[in-house]
Amino acid sequence: MFMHSEADIKKVKRVQFGILGPDEIKAMSVMQPDGVTSDRTFDNGKPVQGGLMDPRLGSIDRYINCATCGMDHNECPGHFGHIELAKPIRSAASASPAL
Ligand SMILES: [Zn+2]
Repeated sequence: MFMHSEADIKKVKRVQFGILGPDEIKAMSVMQPDGVTSDRTFDNGKPVQGGLMDPRLGSIDRYINCATCGMDHNECPGHFGHIELAKPIRSAASASPAL
């Protein structure tokens, strides 16, 4: 939940969507250099570094602040991470519809 903002409200004139490439995704990731490398999510109730709940991705726990921006679970917007897959997979977004 975000607090009320005093910023000016502007009308959105246009929106553009695109698909990021692997290098762009890795560059945006806060999980440098390897991304998600652990199959463990929590250890003794704390998020595991390199796991799917890595503290650099943001906080969902009111007692743990984000390891990237330092904000709490109410203020942190969340941060991008990445997973290096062992083999290429076909994206559902680029798959042709079945006829
Ligand atoms: Zn954060």
